[in-house]
Amino acid sequence: MVRILWFRKNLRISDNRILKVFLDEINPGDRYLFLYIKNKNTFRYFGEKRVHFLNQCLDDLKNQLKDRGFNLHIFKGNTLNVFKQIIQSDSRVYVDRQIEPYCITRDERTADFLRTMNSELITIDDSTLFESGEVLKPDGKPYTVFTPFKKRCELLIGEKHWSEESCNFAKPASCKEYKTNAVENYKFRTNVEGFVKGGRTEGLKLLKSFERKGIEKYNTLRDFPAENGTSRLSPHLHFGTVSIRECYRAALGKLETADDKDEVRTWINELLWREFYYNISHHFPYILDGAFKRQYDRIKWSYDEDLFKKWREGKTGYPIVDAGMRQLEKEGWVHNRLRMITAMFLTKDLFIDWKLGEKFFAEHLIDLDFSSNNGGWQWSASTGCDAQPYFRIFNPYLQSAKFDPEGNYIKQYVPELKNVPPKYIHNPSLMPDEIQNKLGVILGRDYPLPVVEHSKAKDRIMKEFRSL
Ligand SMILES: Cc1cc2nc3c(=O)[nH]c(=O)nc-3n(C[C@H](O)[C@H](O)[C@H](O)COP(=O)(O)OP(=O)(O)OC[C@H]3O[C@@H](n4cnc5c(N)ncnc54)[C@H](O)[C@@H]3O)c2cc1C
Repeated sequence: MVRILWFRKNLRISDNRILKVFLDEINPGDRYLFLYIKNKNTFRYFGEKRVHFLNQCLDDLKNQLKDRGFNLHIFKGNTLNVFKQIIQSDSRVYVDRQIEPYCITRDERTADFLRTMNSELITIDDSTLFESGEVLKPDGKPYTVFTPFKKRCELLIGEKHWSEESCNFAKPASCKEYKTNAVENYKFRTNVEGFVKGGRTEGLKLLKSFERKGIEKYNTLRDFPAENGTSRLSPHLHFGTVSIRECYRAALGKLETADDKDEVRTWINELLWREFYYNISHHFPYILDGAFKRQYDRIKWSYDEDLFKKWREGKTGYPIVDAGMRQLEKEGWVHNRLRMITAMFLTKDLFIDWKLGEKFFAEHLIDLDFSSNNGGWQWSASTGCDAQPYFRIFNPYLQSAKFDPEGNYIKQYVPELKNVPPKYIHNPSLMPDEIQNKLGVILGRDYPLPVVEHSKAKDRIMKEFRSL
């Protein structure tokens, strides 16, 4: 039999569930292959920084396998075509489950093809603590509100969800590698570094440092973007260079020793938000194309290209929004508070379709994760499950004053405001002319005037949402 491990998201060779099953099932006389497939589909929503990060992860994975005497084969092309080239009958292909609706279609087609070749696709969940569809209400229905979902998770979670999966490479070492005639192609490379480096070594460094210095202050610092208060592990969690179980174990360890356990519990909550959005994608795949609350597909959003461009470029005249958008462009990552502020501003103040914002984030984030991105956007636009009610609209000035009181975060990304004092940094349009002249920041010349009036946002939102 030919056994193929098809790496997709979990790009590591330790604590890897599907890899463990693959390694355990190899028998003497089998041939094996470690495979990764790059194709246009993979790159549909890939910004350059994300491609760079992924390539670093793949280089690292290649090296990890090489250290054990194995190769990672990277093929380029349509998934089905790659399998048509390499599959002989009596093969087993092992994969980690991807719950993203577009991946499900791909996997179904692959499984259908494999069946025609007397072969099989073996799928196992490895990106989340819980299996897809495992956390259900007592009546068997899926949760659509976070808090009861979280409580159920807390009730269900046990060692089997977070214990380490040890991967023993002894069996393939005594077997032969499967040789194919397909041509490998690993050329698509970019060199645009984002805020974080790819690969397991880098991911583990971040986890260790957060465990040492961050997790015990997480609840206190996590909302202040000028502080380095969050783990920044999201790209590693997405690509699985660090496993979700490793993160959970780190948190469990700290729960035992931390003086203030709530600091740690808040971080666990965030890991469970991720589980929650995966659960939503699994049960409600139609969110790929529209609102979770379907009646909100009828909202007549604006598609004003000029305003959308100003938002994308960080030129709205709202410093906190502009700082967030510029961080996204520069680093391929944005602090969670800023994701909420910028998304809420696009949907509520500019009244622009959240799907445009979702796509723009998807094209720029290194950590793009369909479920969390869609969930975050629908939360902000009030079209989602457990979303902000539509009448609750973030006031960007107040958000700014509360979470970046001195304007340190703003000044990092909007340098033209570096001399503006805290009194005006949140709303520079209040600066009298003489202060503008003194500071050399003339509004409308050096920094834009606000593109819309925040005070008017509510009327439009109330009218549109109420009409449905
Ligand atoms: C509009 C919008 C879009 C978003 N898009 C993405 C995305 O594409 N990919 C992504 O991973 N997260 C997304 N998030 C969630 C969140 O902003 C990021 O996970 C977080 O900022 C990552 O930083 P961190 O690793 O330092 O997180 P930490 O605060 O250290 O949290 C640890 C981990 O928990 C998970 N997590 C934290 N907050 C959330 C959340 N609100 N929802 C789901 N998971 C969470 C992430 O995996 C994160 O790495 C989005 C949020 C919003 C409001």
